[in-house]
Amino acid sequence: MSGKFGDRRMFIGGEFVASRGGEWIESVNPATEEVHGRVPAATAEDVNLAVEAAEKAQPEWAALSVFERRELLRKLADGMRRRADEVLPLEAADTGNTIKSLARDVEVAAKYLEFFSGLGTEMKGDSVPATSEGMHFSLREPYGVVARIVPFNHPFLFAGAHLSAPLMAGNTVIVKSPETSPLSAAIMGEICREILPPGVVNIVSGYGLPTGDALVRHPRIWRIGFTGSVPTGLAIQRSAAEVGVKHVSLELGGKNAMIVCPDADPERVARAAIGGMNFAWAGQSCGSNSRLLLHESLHDEVTERIVAEVSRIRVGNQLDPDSQMGPVNSEAHYRRILGFIESARADGAKLLTGGERPVGEEFRRGYWLKPTVYGDVTMDMRVAHEEIFGPVLSILKWRNLEEAISMANSTEYGLAAGIWTHELPVVMQAARQLQSGFVWVNTTARHFVGTPFGGWKNSGLGREECLEELLSYTRVKTVHLFT
Ligand code: NAD
Repeated sequence: MSGKFGDRRMFIGGEFVASRGGEWIESVNPATEEVHGRVPAATAEDVNLAVEAAEKAQPEWAALSVFERRELLRKLADGMRRRADEVLPLEAADTGNTIKSLARDVEVAAKYLEFFSGLGTEMKGDSVPATSEGMHFSLREPYGVVARIVPFNHPFLFAGAHLSAPLMAGNTVIVKSPETSPLSAAIMGEICREILPPGVVNIVSGYGLPTGDALVRHPRIWRIGFTGSVPTGLAIQRSAAEVGVKHVSLELGGKNAMIVCPDADPERVARAAIGGMNFAWAGQSCGSNSRLLLHESLHDEVTERIVAEVSRIRVGNQLDPDSQMGPVNSEAHYRRILGFIESARADGAKLLTGGERPVGEEFRRGYWLKPTVYGDVTMDMRVAHEEIFGPVLSILKWRNLEEAISMANSTEYGLAAGIWTHELPVVMQAARQLQSGFVWVNTTARHFVGTPFGGWKNSGLGREECLEELLSYTRVKTVHLFT
């Protein structure tokens, strides 16, 4: 037993179990670097046990009517809400995300379960008049066992929300929790144990190698839903392709540009740009508008407002409800972000605020960084075109719209982009030309349940949070029926 939260076992076949290999992963509070809990490091054998449990449970789960599954998914949503008071302090301590912002995570997970629970009858096939004497129609069937691999920034939200579509489609699921911030997954397991038959949901913990990779390569998992970084997404595609023709969907990183036009209101866009950086979870969001592209006419005014506001953000312990930003998630990630701070200096970006560890006793240990803003950024700098996934905003200046759109499009990413203007022709041009999975107009950093979410280019493959996600967890079978 180690730390305040103790040992949190994996959830396989309705039981809480340690790893067959006997290894554990220690989880630390990123504010203090203290070990506060442990999870098992699953081996390939553990993964295989999870697959066997999920396979055993799947036929009965799929045999339930969509209305029976709907009721169970709704109970799961209620179960999550009921445990919110317990999830929040644990998740805040384990991730570094501020406790105030986390209430939203539990609610979002519950909302996704409720959304998908109502879509069961939309898993429709087609009928095709291919001959006059027969009947030709298609059915949608589950894959069987589905793997969902989740990242560190919202572990409870992703574990919960990502159960929704595969379960509704009649699959059983194995969730792989992230190796940093893995502790809340055990609460998810307890909620599932109360409501679902054993084996319908299984949760394994461990590192990418061997745990995640064992799931990807498992010969009886044909559907993998991954959320994480581009390099891991590429590795998963490679591993999957080595062993089978698998359906892999990928929700990956972003370097999202927020383009601000001359007619925008400087005060409103400054507020939105800060909100869209998600400082409450230290900028660690795939959807953060980490590149702010300001027209030269309002560049100085908006920059000034942003710097004044960002330098006032209250950095402090994530469990304090008054904190507006906590530490970044882990030591390795902290070092990676410091590497970007160093590169910005070397590349000649102008540090406008932040860029250093805050001063004070509570910041002596832990992975702390002040919220940071760079000006005079140009597209050749690393901070302009690589995902930092931290509390670092880069401001760039533009003169004509073509230049702004070309800057926005000039990275490997294409998750989100935004434009701020009320000039309709400009909105239309930007909406058509921006190379991203979605475009925010006069808003930022928001998800709208039911609308497709996902990236272009290296930001991903497949769409989530909408009917397409549900259908992607089914496979089509065509029946040719003759008497
Ligand atoms: P990561 O890619 O390092 O890890 C994500 C998960 O993949 C972890 O559970 C990890 O153990 C596992 N993994 C690592 N190597 C693996 C392998 N070879 N095979 C199988 N699994 C493996 O990502 P992270 O650092 O946890 O998260 C940050 C990244 O996630 C950022 O790039 C961010 O933009 C992205 N993200 C994307 C979305 C989205 O919806 N598009 C949402 C949140 C985060």
